[in-house]
Amino acid sequence: MSDVFELQSALTAAAGASGDEKAERELIARLTAPYCDEQYTDALGSLICHKKGPGKKVMVSGHMDAIGVYVRTIDEKGFIFCDRVGGLAPHTLVSKPVKFTNGTMGVVREVNKLEFWSKGSSEVTYDDIYIDIGTSSREETMKKVNIGDTATVCYPTVKLANNLIGTCYADDLCACIALILSLEDDVQPVNDMYYVFTTQEEVGCRGAQTAALVIGCDYGVAVDVNSAGDCPGQNGKNTLNKVGKGLSLTYRTAAAINDREFLDVLAELCDKNGIPYQTNAIARGGTDAGNMQKVNARTADIAIPTRYIHSAGEVYSADDIIGAAKLVTALSKTAL
Ligand SMILES: [Zn+2]
Repeated sequence: MSDVFELQSALTAAAGASGDEKAERELIARLTAPYCDEQYTDALGSLICHKKGPGKKVMVSGHMDAIGVYVRTIDEKGFIFCDRVGGLAPHTLVSKPVKFTNGTMGVVREVNKLEFWSKGSSEVTYDDIYIDIGTSSREETMKKVNIGDTATVCYPTVKLANNLIGTCYADDLCACIALILSLEDDVQPVNDMYYVFTTQEEVGCRGAQTAALVIGCDYGVAVDVNSAGDCPGQNGKNTLNKVGKGLSLTYRTAAAINDREFLDVLAELCDKNGIPYQTNAIARGGTDAGNMQKVNARTADIAIPTRYIHSAGEVYSADDIIGAAKLVTALSKTAL
């Protein structure tokens, strides 16, 4: 079994914002090729890894796109003004290095320091920050970066105590890792299994809908992060989920009311296989499951409890990923 931290580091280095998942797709395709009967890509770029079985068609998704920014304008001096790809709050970007898809590096700064820091975080807009790539004119910048190009945060992945991992892209590369580990189990599935590394989740779960349509899946499972409630500032009103205490089965999100019977099957599989699990129901946010439902799949969510989601220091437990991988493998061997 591959090491979760090593995989998180490698996948984070290849991270691309929604619509720019090519490097990530190529890396994951290479890692999973030995364990698939076939691999293909749909029109939106999702990577579909098929492991053939006689039973129901089951799609398990982990989204491989990341939040980031895209280039809106470039000023005369070559500084770049950007806007969000997905839910990336501009105030979190200041002083962070960013990497464009073609490898060009930059740093993010405030346009007006005094004004920036006197504003509340929710008042800060993308007009208040810019990216400096070291160039000194618009012409010079445009030799390296074009309007519409995307960049992601470039921050190291770190090992914390108790098998926890800190990284800028737990969401949702940790779920991609769970899928990769399950594929590595290399069992002969009873269900017709489609492990799908989806695109464009952060801009409305677009890739999952296309992939589910292409596959025509009977069941859909979205593996994604959810906010853990075990750190300062969390009052326990949203979720009681704790990092390292097991994956979490999600009853509902803002995007999907999941299938009770299917969730019961997953809970039973956890019990049978000694996989620790928690449960949650959330009022805000959604996952790929919502769009899989739209094309007639019975769905469930497997959530990975994660602290500080959509920041450069998201924290999750490698143990929860190993549990999620075990559950996906158990599901592949269970007739639905
Ligand atoms: Zn996500």
